[in-house]
Amino acid sequence: MKDVVIVGGGLVGGLTALLLQQSGVNVTVLDAAPILDADKVLATTNPRVLALSKATIQLLETVNVWDKVARHMPYTGMHVWNQNGYGDIEFGQPTTAPERSQWLGSMVEPSVLNLAIQAQMQQKIADYRTCVQVTRVEKAVKGWCITLADGTQVQTKLVIGADGANSFVREQAMIKLDTLAYKQSAISCAIKTQQPHLHVARQIFLPTGPLAFLPMKDDDWVSIVWTLPEDHTDEYIKLDDDAFKTLLEKSSLHMLGKIIDVTPRASFPLKARAAEHYVQDGLALVGDAAHVIHPLAGQGVNIGCLDAAVLCDALLNDKARGMWANLQTLRRYEHIRKGQNEAMMHSMSAIGWLETTTFTLLVWLRNFGLKRVQNIPQLKDQFMHQASGLNILNKTRYSCTKN
Ligand SMILES: Cc1cc2nc3c(=O)[nH]c(=O)nc-3n(C[C@H](O)[C@H](O)[C@H](O)COP(=O)(O)OP(=O)(O)OC[C@H]3O[C@@H](n4cnc5c(N)ncnc54)[C@H](O)[C@@H]3O)c2cc1C
Repeated sequence: MKDVVIVGGGLVGGLTALLLQQSGVNVTVLDAAPILDADKVLATTNPRVLALSKATIQLLETVNVWDKVARHMPYTGMHVWNQNGYGDIEFGQPTTAPERSQWLGSMVEPSVLNLAIQAQMQQKIADYRTCVQVTRVEKAVKGWCITLADGTQVQTKLVIGADGANSFVREQAMIKLDTLAYKQSAISCAIKTQQPHLHVARQIFLPTGPLAFLPMKDDDWVSIVWTLPEDHTDEYIKLDDDAFKTLLEKSSLHMLGKIIDVTPRASFPLKARAAEHYVQDGLALVGDAAHVIHPLAGQGVNIGCLDAAVLCDALLNDKARGMWANLQTLRRYEHIRKGQNEAMMHSMSAIGWLETTTFTLLVWLRNFGLKRVQNIPQLKDQFMHQASGLNILNKTRYSCTKN
């Protein structure tokens, strides 16, 4: 009987496995994905980036993954404003050569990050199985029984579902899912701009939805995430490159000058999903398996990493007391993280709606909100502290104040 089996070895599953392993827990990781080919990953630039918070970077440092990340782009400033009004807010500052103390976070290509996580798991997790498909997850008399596509069965006291938005573990445990279709999609691609990004992440709220410019490589490449109503997405995806560049320049008010180059565009449907429960007896969900939020705040993976930290902290507290995967402990994890994640999810949905509205009163309120935060430094600091995730991380053993 295993102590813990983690289904899914993406960022959140990998982080959970490494946090437990470094505290002496024997972990099994089952992942359907293959080991990435490092040469291939590093030879191509993924046009999509993840905006990692300070807390996520700190967690990746804790498990020695961060120094394996082959490339990333720190950001030292954030600028958010409304096209439809005068609301405008800035955090941090632009810079040409960011020092670590100035970082607000960093942008990483998902494949580059997965490469680093996989490399560390290959070194540290003795039972790390890739290219395995989990086909059944059943409650047994004691713990859970997991069946793989080749018929192998694994018995475990605790199963952690870190298997993404379409979680099979969640489905097998019959945990209900609330889904909110935003009727929006996001277009993502990389662009080369005339003016340098100066390590500033920019987001404009257009009447159709937010458009984000995220610094990604060199001084003049940014990744864009453009949230649009579904019919606009289809139309914009079909445009030829020149027409798309012109539209983007106009929509962004030529903020970074001319757009010189653009990579092929991809689109993602946007849905918010929330599992009704994060835990059952001997089972816990983390990351996208438990919740999927709007990408406008770039927080999806960051809140997943905080799930990993809070769950591991609770499990390791139990272990120190000679217990393991106590249902009360799992419920405490659910209580802490579900509340925090749902608050984030609802505020994102509300912002998404508020920012696309053209009702005059709401436009005024929205601008007033941005201006108010911009003009009160303490409010800005508080906002940044929350966005960094450190307020939550600092309540666990992974706090930088406890290192
Ligand atoms: C357009 C867009 C932009 C985004 N931008 C950001 C951003 O800027 N910042 C941010 O933080 N987040 C962002 N996100 C969200 C982020 O990508 C996700 O939150 C994150 O990838 C989820 O990580 P995860 O480990 O929970 O799941 P995943 O990365 O989906 O990993 C799941 C793993 O489970 C494995 N698996 C699945 N099923 C099985 C099975 N049956 N058996 C075995 N293994 C299985 C898969 O192989 C995979 O390795 C964005 C999302 C979108 C769509």
